[in-house]
Amino acid sequence: CGIVGVVGRGPASALLLDALKRLEYRGYDSAGIATLEDGSLTRRRAVGKLANLKSRLDSEPLAGRIGIGHTRWATHGRPDETNAHPHMVDGVAIVHNGIIENHRELRNDLKAAGAHFATETDSEVVAHLVSRERKNGYEPVAAVRKVLPRLSGTFALAFLFEGHDNLLIGARKGSPLAVGYGCGEMFLGSDAMALAPLTDIVAYLEDGDLAVVTREQIEFIDVNGARLRRTSAKVAGAA
Ligand code: GLU
Repeated sequence: CGIVGVVGRGPASALLLDALKRLEYRGYDSAGIATLEDGSLTRRRAVGKLANLKSRLDSEPLAGRIGIGHTRWATHGRPDETNAHPHMVDGVAIVHNGIIENHRELRNDLKAAGAHFATETDSEVVAHLVSRERKNGYEPVAAVRKVLPRLSGTFALAFLFEGHDNLLIGARKGSPLAVGYGCGEMFLGSDAMALAPLTDIVAYLEDGDLAVVTREQIEFIDVNGARLRRTSAKVAGAA
């Protein structure tokens, strides 16, 4: 299971697929990628090896310079295409590694409020919760900040928002997540290895951190929005 993300200058999908390949060693049962094409979210997913996702992308390419990708090791819900990440709800796309322990009660609350669930995963609740805060009028970062305290369990999360061509958000609690620094492009990944061909300047999120990633900069904040200092380091042997 792994997470990658890019807010870049060139085509995102080939780069994301390549980064996912570097996470194959962690094991997975399915994979997927979402990008913003002309401001709209689109995705491709496939069960099994990344070669299957690649052939899907070959026949139905994904345009866009910003995107997120995921390899899934199913914990809740069968390893099929429907349950593969990214999950998308009303203009919010998410990928998740870890387990949302209170997913059942969150799902029940959301259903009672009218949400329709497309998957059997624990992860989908996160997409619904964030999309609901967006509808309540919160900007993407504020929406994510409102939702994270409601999640118990472990997560590395990456978010992509329709209409926001220069924004990725990462969040971490108990599952590893790193950011990588480029020149006019920035990256997210489960570890430095995923980002090795892209950059060797990497910073790891600490538990409770959010990373607000744009082409120009990466800002670390806590769940209250307070700025955090996180130092990046050059990864030996990478890039
Ligand atoms: N719990 C999530 C799922 O089953 C994420 C699994 C993972 O870490 O890949 O979809």
